Amino acid sequence: MRLSRYFLPVLKETPREAQVVSHRYMLQAGMIKQASAGIYSWLPLGYKVLKKIENIVHEEQARAGHHAMLMPTLQSADLWRESGRYDAYGDEMLRITDRGGRDMLYTPTAEELITDIFRANVTSYKDLPLTLYQIQWKFRDEVRPRFGVMRGREFYMKDGYNFDLTKEDALHAYNRHLVSYLRTYERMGLKAIPMRADSGPIGGDDTHEFLVLADTGESEVFYDSAVTDLTFGDREIDYTDKAACAAVMEEFTTKYARTDETHDETLFAQIPEERRKTARGIEVGQIFYFGTKYSDALGALVDDGAGGKQAVHMGSHGIGVSRLLGAIIEASHDDKGIIWPEGVTPFHVGILNMRSGDAACDAACEDLYAQLTQAGLEPLYDDRDERAGAKFGTMDMIGLPWRITVGPRGLKNGVVEVTSRRTGQSTEMPAAAAVAQMKTHYAPHL
Ligand code: ATP
Ligand code: MG
Repeated sequence: MRLSRYFLPVLKETPREAQVVSHRYMLQAGMIKQASAGIYSWLPLGYKVLKKIENIVHEEQARAGHHAMLMPTLQSADLWRESGRYDAYGDEMLRITDRGGRDMLYTPTAEELITDIFRANVTSYKDLPLTLYQIQWKFRDEVRPRFGVMRGREFYMKDGYNFDLTKEDALHAYNRHLVSYLRTYERMGLKAIPMRADSGPIGGDDTHEFLVLADTGESEVFYDSAVTDLTFGDREIDYTDKAACAAVMEEFTTKYARTDETHDETLFAQIPEERRKTARGIEVGQIFYFGTKYSDALGALVDDGAGGKQAVHMGSHGIGVSRLLGAIIEASHDDKGIIWPEGVTPFHVGILNMRSGDAACDAACEDLYAQLTQAGLEPLYDDRDERAGAKFGTMDMIGLPWRITVGPRGLKNGVVEVTSRRTGQSTEMPAAAAVAQMKTHYAPHL
């Protein structure tokens, strides 16, 4: 992409309404624009990152054997009356009446809708296990929408639902989701710690939230610092292997890590003092097992293979796809702007022309642009007729992990400058070497 032709409305002033750095940078970098309280338009740069995050979620769900689908944002109230949640859900539910006077609502979550699909189509244990999910807009009329996309009213969420014959199978689905979520967040360059939590209006006993530690997080969390050393890394896992998934579950959830809802001072006090930590966290996902709560209410039964009928065991699993942009920025930025992890960056590398209009500089930039594109990368070429200072400022704000700077002096010596956004370190090398280095950096992410 050439910056002169892109739509990147970078703000010069610091937006005053933003209380946290991720909100401020998303506005300043021209990623989002507020449409009304807690509701945002996604401008091209923000939309690109949103899609990268969404894509990682899809890839990891496919790897775990879960099926993508799409349900509507508007639902009829009928199913929610069947489950008893229409009244129970309260003011967070946006209720709408259509022209025929029918009660509708904008989906805050979809347990009822998916259970209705299941009961209409699945009648035998032979079709189990089954996990269906979608990535779709949700609406919750939050009392205090704030922090930009972190607590929106309209937000983009992955919600998945497992259907299993037995509790044991459903707990395997729970563990499988935990593993797939660990992989998902790590690919985004995030450390998200599973913590024992409270189930809220979804219901059920077993639930873990995934929290990214950040001072601006809305949750208070308590943990054994040993949990921050755990990483899933690039281990291969067979998602159908119950014991293997259970082992990961145990590894990542045995040490103390809880939100304030489930915090237990007595247990916490047993951790050696130097490892006892209290901090703030951003909830980026949650997994639930709730047994037959919805299948009983809606009559989602299957033949159990022994002549009987049985309500299916279910769980649901969510990832805050749009909130993740905020969480990633909170975890990865400096005073000049965003620092995108390589897995989610909107463009792989910025090309900065120090002297647009100079024939040698223009030609070298064009050549780099063509070669990087050919290598399967997406460069963002700042070809604008602007001062170098303004170009550096924009590049730093939008946070691409790598920048290649092309100037007349370097070209005379046959080199360009490659700079890491994270470390600020620059190295001079021939353009061909810069292209090769970019290919190597991004090989694990393409
Ligand atoms: P919270 O406690 O933050 O209100 P929740 O527990 O009600 O969230 P879930 O029903 O578990 O949310 O939804 C799954 C995920 O969707 C959450 O882990 C979170 O990342 C994201 N999410 C929930 N509410 C919002 C919101 N208002 N804006 C953006 N993302 C949200
Ligand atoms: Mg939650």
